[in-house]
Amino acid sequence: MKSFPEEAFSTGHSVLNTYLDALVSELAGLETGEIATYIPQLGLADPKDFGIAIATADGRFCKAGNWDRMVTIQSVSKPFMYGEALRRFGRDTVLTKVGVEPTGERFNSIVLDEANNRAFNPMVNSGAIVTASLLAQDTAARNETSMVDLFSRLAGRRLSIDEDVFASEHETGHRNRAIAWLMLNSGMIEPDPDLVLDLYFKQCSVLVNCADLAAMACTLGTFGRQPVTGEQVFAPEVTRDVLSVMTTCGMYDYAGQWLYDVGLPAKSGVSGMIMAVIPGHMGIAVYSPKLDTVGNSVRGIEVCRRFARDFGLHACTNAVDPGGAIRRVYSAREVRSLRQRTAPERRALEASGESFAAVELTGPLHFATAERVANEAAVAAQLARTVVLDLRRVESMDAAALDILSRIPGTVGDDTTRVYLAETPERLLPALTDALAAQDAADALTYATTEAALEAFEDAVLETAGILGTGDAMRLSEAEIFKGLSPDEIAVLEGAASSFSYDPGATIVTRGDAALAFYVVARGVVSITIPVGETTRRISAVGPGQAFGELAMLDGGARSANAVASGPVLCHAFSIEQIKEIFEARPNIHSVILANLVRSLSDRLRAANEQIGTFE
Ligand code: GLN
Repeated sequence: MKSFPEEAFSTGHSVLNTYLDALVSELAGLETGEIATYIPQLGLADPKDFGIAIATADGRFCKAGNWDRMVTIQSVSKPFMYGEALRRFGRDTVLTKVGVEPTGERFNSIVLDEANNRAFNPMVNSGAIVTASLLAQDTAARNETSMVDLFSRLAGRRLSIDEDVFASEHETGHRNRAIAWLMLNSGMIEPDPDLVLDLYFKQCSVLVNCADLAAMACTLGTFGRQPVTGEQVFAPEVTRDVLSVMTTCGMYDYAGQWLYDVGLPAKSGVSGMIMAVIPGHMGIAVYSPKLDTVGNSVRGIEVCRRFARDFGLHACTNAVDPGGAIRRVYSAREVRSLRQRTAPERRALEASGESFAAVELTGPLHFATAERVANEAAVAAQLARTVVLDLRRVESMDAAALDILSRIPGTVGDDTTRVYLAETPERLLPALTDALAAQDAADALTYATTEAALEAFEDAVLETAGILGTGDAMRLSEAEIFKGLSPDEIAVLEGAASSFSYDPGATIVTRGDAALAFYVVARGVVSITIPVGETTRRISAVGPGQAFGELAMLDGGARSANAVASGPVLCHAFSIEQIKEIFEARPNIHSVILANLVRSLSDRLRAANEQIGTFE
C-alpha cells in the first residue's frame, strides 16, 4: 500500500497550521471533563494531550499539538464499519437491521427500536454491534484482518490494534455483552454474539493518530476517495448515507445541539477523539482525552465549534453565491468578430448588434450556478436571437448542471432563438455532448468558439441586408483601398495585378518573410494569424474587397503575421516594386491609396480601442 508521503507529516507552514497552533495554545487552558475509566486501559491517558490534524481533498495535512499521539479509535470506528456494511449488503438490507433515528440516549444505552425490531442507529453501541454482526461472517482472525485492512485503506497507511486496550475492554465490556445477548434474544443479531463482540471490541481498539483519522474523515467527505492514495474506498452513495447518519446521530445525545452549533457531520469516541467532515473539502480530527458528561471530548467539541464558526462552515450557512458563475455578458455591438468589415458592413452590423448575446461563464457549475445561467440566457434571449454560452472558464459541471445546461437550447426564447454552447473545455465535452444529445439539442455545439458563432451571426446579418458579396469575384474598383480612384487609374492598377487562387488552409504569406507584395481579396476569407506558444492564434480576418500585407507599401519590412486561406480564396496581388513605380508616375494614385490606408488603419485602431474598453 502507498503510504503518506514524507512531507505530509512534516510541519510545513500554512495559514491553517498557524491557526491550529493558536487554537491549541488557547484551548489548552480548557481543563474540565473526565477521562473515561470504565475501560481501565483508557484511564492511563495523559489529560494534557491535545492534538489536531486536518486532511484536505488534495492530500495535504495541517497539524498542531500532539497530533501524532497513537490512540484507540473507539466509537469513531462506527461510521466506517457502517459504510462497509452498506457497501457489502446495500442500504435496504442494512436498514432492516439498523435504522437511522437518533436515540437521544447515552451511547451505551440498552434501548432498541422494538417496533421495527432493529437498533435505532449505527452510531450508538447497539447499532454498531448489529453492524459488526453483519460483518462478522468469518473466523475471528479473518474478520479482524479485513477490518484492519479497511481502516488502513481509509487512513492511507498500515494501522494495527492496541492489544492491551482490546484485552481491557474484552474483560470489562459486560454492558456491551448484555446489549448483544439482548439483541440475540429478539433476533436482531445472529449467533455467535461472542464473535460479533470480538470484532466490535477490536474495531474500537485500532490505533490512530489525528492525521490518520483526519485522512479517514476526508475520505468520507470526498465521496469515498482516499486523498493521498487516490483509492476509491467507498462509493459516493455510501459516503452520503454515512455522513447523513453522522450528522443526525454522530454525537450521541448531544447530536441535536451539535447540529445546531457546529453543523458538520461528526463522530466522537470515549478515548477523546472526534472527527468532523467538511463535505467536499476536508476531514478534521481532534484528540483530547477529557470528556464531558455525554462522552464527547471537551476540547474536541470546542475546536470544532470554533473552526465551523470562524470559517463559516455550518452546513446551513456555507452556500456559495451562484451569481459568481456569470463572468460577463456582451452583445455584438460591444464586441465584433475578428473579421475586418467594410464601412457599409459595419453600419449594418451596428444596427443589429443587440441580436447577438454572449454569456461568459466561470467556475464550477452545479444546480444553483447552472440555474442562474439558465435565467441569464432567458434574459439575454429577450433581445437577442442568437445566444452563446461561453464555457471556456468553466471548471466542472456536475450532473445537475449538465441536465440544466442541456435543457437551455430547447426551452429558452422562442422558435427564432438559437442557443449555442461554445468553448467547452476538452475534458467536459464528452459529458456535455451526451447531455445535449439526450435533449435533442446536439446542434447547440455547432460552433467550437464564440468567435466562430459571432462571425457566422455577422455574415447572416450582412446576407439578409444584401451586403455580403454575391459570390462573384470582387472587382478592383470596389476594393476599399482603391476607393476614389478614377476608372483610368483603376485600369493602370489592373494592368499591374496578377490573380492567384489558394486552396483552403494554404499559407499565402509567412511571418518573417520579406514583404514583396500586397494583396486584395477578390473571393473568400483570409485569416491573419500569429504564433502563440505551440499554436497559432487568429487575430483578424479579411474578406472580399479588403487588403492584407498592405503595410509593406509603407515600411517594406518583414511580414508581421501569417495569412492563411480560410476556404477557397482568390486574391489580386501587387508587387511592391511595381506599385512604387506607379506611385512615382501617378502621384494622385499614391495620395488616394495613402489616404485610404490611413482611414482603414484609424478605423481599426478605433474599433480595437472600443473592444479593449469592454474587457473591464
Ligand atoms: N468501545 C467503547 C464502548 O463500546 C466505545 C464507545 C465510545 O467510544 N463511545 O464502550
